[in-house]
Amino acid sequence: MNAPILIVGAGHAGGRAALTLREEGYTGRLILIGDEPHVPYERPPLSKGLLQGSADLASCSLCDHERLNALGIEHIAGNPVTRLEPQQQRLQLADGQWLPYAGLLLATGGRARRLPQEQANVLYLRTHDEALALRDSLTPGTRLVVVGGGFIGLEVAATARGLGCEVTLLEAGPRLAGRVLPPVISEALLDLHRQQGVDVRVNVALASIQADGVLLVDGQRLPCDWVVVGIGMQPNIELAT
Ligand SMILES: Cc1cc2nc3c(=O)[nH]c(=O)nc-3n(C[C@H](O)[C@H](O)[C@H](O)COP(=O)(O)OP(=O)(O)OC[C@H]3O[C@@H](n4cnc5c(N)ncnc54)[C@H](O)[C@@H]3O)c2cc1C
Repeated sequence: MNAPILIVGAGHAGGRAALTLREEGYTGRLILIGDEPHVPYERPPLSKGLLQGSADLASCSLCDHERLNALGIEHIAGNPVTRLEPQQQRLQLADGQWLPYAGLLLATGGRARRLPQEQANVLYLRTHDEALALRDSLTPGTRLVVVGGGFIGLEVAATARGLGCEVTLLEAGPRLAGRVLPPVISEALLDLHRQQGVDVRVNVALASIQADGVLLVDGQRLPCDWVVVGIGMQPNIELAT
């Protein structure tokens, strides 16, 4: 049998590419390889409907197992690619098996940028499973500190507030979403979040995260139950490099 086309990364790009190859008439063997345990899904609802409880994995998914099977797309889940040998046109999975390829698409996307300090009360939001863990934490009265005033941090703050949490949002820069929005929109977002009861603080530097709160560089302590960190993403370029 001819070597397959391999798609590494079963996210939006990888999943969509596999479906498009079939839609455009590619009939050869096609394998979609992901490190997450799920079929490809869209991430935007994770910080919106999924946190609110109005969306679930099925409604976020690009397709289900039946559609992948019907299209002859083999899906290897929860088994990341760990090694690439382009000269030999093959790659290795975490479980040790080698797969040859005729064509290769790297669609490995990115991961949440993490703070150097790991702490049990710190949550991130990049994957479906992280969104579920966060959703379970957002019960009424929960004290939440959100680190990062970009899209993810703001969406989490808004949703958590809507669910009855006490939310403080810390932004290191002088304004919200400062890298992607003009000042007038940052101002509007600031007003809106404050009106909704989010304690938004800008120009704030985090010193450390403790088991029961966060410590700011100016010595102030903010007690909380959970810290959600939304400080951007890091591209998954290790394999390509
Ligand atoms: C909470 C949240 C909300 C968002 N909201 C919006 C929005 O409202 N609007 C908008 O435009 N964008 C939004 N985005 C951004 C959007 O989701 C991303 O741009 C999109 O996910 C990029 O898709 P991708 O397939 O390129 O990468 P990814 O979604 O990162 O998918 C790549 C996949 O490859 C996997 N992978 C990496 N390395 C390997 C390996 N070695 N082996 C196997 N698999 C591997 C990764 O784990 C991941 O599953 C949001 C993102 C998040 C996290």
